[in-house]
Amino acid sequence: MPRGDGTGPRGQGPGTGRGLGRGGGRGRMGGSGAGVGGECVCPNCGYRTTHQAGSPCYKIQCPKCGAPMTR
Ligand SMILES: [Zn+2]
Repeated sequence: MPRGDGTGPRGQGPGTGRGLGRGGGRGRMGGSGAGVGGECVCPNCGYRTTHQAGSPCYKIQCPKCGAPMTR
């Protein structure tokens, strides 16, 4: 194949797409699939649950320790 004088652009072809390191970040963990409203966190023990629309976090009791949840 003709190579010309070698000053053309190099790197055309497979293999140039490397180096896009997708480092991840935090994907959504599976779970219940609700997940639009966010989470409530227990300030006492750290338990997390999905926030349910219509129920403020402070009205939800932690199922582990009974403390009111917060955000
Ligand atoms: Zn708790």
